[in-house]
Amino acid sequence: MSTKPMNTEEIKKELIARMPTKVARKRAKAMTPGAQGGEIPEIQANVRTIPGIITQRGCTYAGCKGVVLGPSRDIVNLTHGPIGCGFYSWLTRRNQTDAGPDGDNFIPYSFSTDMTEHDIVFGGMKKLAAAIQEAYDNFHPKAISVFSTCPVGLIGDDIHAVARQMQEKLGITVFANSCEGYKGVSQSAGHHIANNQIMK
Ligand code: SF4
Repeated sequence: MSTKPMNTEEIKKELIARMPTKVARKRAKAMTPGAQGGEIPEIQANVRTIPGIITQRGCTYAGCKGVVLGPSRDIVNLTHGPIGCGFYSWLTRRNQTDAGPDGDNFIPYSFSTDMTEHDIVFGGMKKLAAAIQEAYDNFHPKAISVFSTCPVGLIGDDIHAVARQMQEKLGITVFANSCEGYKGVSQSAGHHIANNQIMK
């Protein structure tokens, strides 16, 4: 094993050399190679996430679905997006609860529309309506909450219109959260979106 000390400046250069010029310029400010000669460099942190670039923060969707609404046991929380987003925010590892007096506990499930390339090209609204119907038919929840992910924001699926239409059809509360992952600086934007929708 090599005992050569890591040159963090070199590592940073190597990392940003692989990025497109504009992204590299932004990301360079968010990487500090460590204290040099006693000086602690300031890291740029409070900026929006760049879609496609992995950061150490949760996305807006994670804050909305994973943190605020996801742990509610008695409503179905349905992700409209690729299966990775749903898997990423699946709560079985840290949120456990027993069913309440109504017998409902949907936390062990990960509900997702499982969007694929076809839905990105042709739109996913019909698939979302079908997923809400399927969740209702199988579980008869008192409410269903829908969460948008990055691709949904990019293609412009109107999740609120689908939620309204399904609420009318099913006669239960169905509401949607425009919480695309790239929407805010961090997952805290998702906390706000979820809380506002709960109040509404
Ligand atoms: S919403 Fe966007 S950033 Fe969040 S998990 Fe899905 S693709 Fe990733």
